[in-house]
Amino acid sequence: MAEKRDYYEVLGVDKSASEDEIKKAYRQMAKKYHPDLNPGDKEAEAKFKEANEAYEVLSDPDKKAKYDRYGHAGVDPNYGAGQGGGFGGFGGMDFDLGDIFSSFFGGGFGGSQRANPNAPQRGSDIQTGITISFEEAAKGCKRTIDVQRIEVCDECSGTGAAKGTTTQTCPDCNGRGQVTTQQRTPFGVIQSSKACPRCNGKGTIIPTPCNKCKGYGRIRRPVKIDVNVPAGIDDGQVFSMRGQGNRGVNGGPSGDLRVGVNVRPHPFFERDGNNVWCEVTVNFAQAALGDELLVPTLDGKVKYSIPAGTQNGMVFKLKDRGIPNVNGRGRGDQLVRITVEVPKKLSQHQKDLIRELYDDIGEKNPFSAGQTPGETEEKKGFFGKKKK
Ligand SMILES: [Zn+2]
Ligand SMILES: [Zn+2]
Repeated sequence: MAEKRDYYEVLGVDKSASEDEIKKAYRQMAKKYHPDLNPGDKEAEAKFKEANEAYEVLSDPDKKAKYDRYGHAGVDPNYGAGQGGGFGGFGGMDFDLGDIFSSFFGGGFGGSQRANPNAPQRGSDIQTGITISFEEAAKGCKRTIDVQRIEVCDECSGTGAAKGTTTQTCPDCNGRGQVTTQQRTPFGVIQSSKACPRCNGKGTIIPTPCNKCKGYGRIRRPVKIDVNVPAGIDDGQVFSMRGQGNRGVNGGPSGDLRVGVNVRPHPFFERDGNNVWCEVTVNFAQAALGDELLVPTLDGKVKYSIPAGTQNGMVFKLKDRGIPNVNGRGRGDQLVRITVEVPKKLSQHQKDLIRELYDDIGEKNPFSAGQTPGETEEKKGFFGKKKK
């Protein structure tokens, strides 16, 4: 594997750059290297890919923290593989027993008078995040997500007992799950019952726990989940896949998979609700005479005619060319802001044409000093006021 460049270096930002600065830097790179703007340019394509990868990590606080701490190995489990171990298994297989406990027991483990441990309990949700392009957010897309999910142990089918053995009735409480204690006090005998400490109130014990799940009946393992990202989703929104989270306990339903969406900024389009803004530059002849333009939209380029006398900053609306409503029917519009570009370099012939135009228009600008434009004091000499 080729040596990877530092992600901050790729985007040209400082390590202390804010979320906004990272976004801005990415946008600039995308504007420069977007394949639509550099057709057939392999180097630009590679740069665009590199910028996407860097943005995917640096725009995600979780991945960014891992990257800041461990470098590329923190966010790419394959990075450095075969180059002497390093962080073997990092980036997926972080098995956290504390977490698995709270997932199984709803966090109430250890409480004195907790609810029936045999009652069905819903599994916890899994939170994850994806980064998608502007177009994918607008049109919807499919993704396969890798997550660590708590599932029924396939070795013991969830019983927690080793192969060939079974769970047994707890001999301490005879399966009741509760034990009664008597305490002699000066006021008499106080009887109290509490959860059986041997079986934790379950009423059953596992004499020989399953080797794979250590008797929990559930294990956390890596799974691939196909998700449909809904069209119209916006940056920072979360969508759920029902029942794709951690498995429930005692027959309870599974939790949900909750996917947070990070949308990469687009080089030409900017989103505002369901509307899409874009800027189109025309020259002043086009603006003055009107012209038919090819405007980029989410559906490809569409023809749009600007009228004669189009002014700088005018906004035109392309109806229903925006982003579909994520919750149902309807679609936003595309808003095209016109920038009239004044030419910076002109040939002598062009200058003459424009001067002729100026003279033809006739009306003097109230801010004009009364000279023909383009003929400055220096050119004419201090006293040489030209009369026309
Ligand atoms: Zn097992
Ligand atoms: Zn017991």
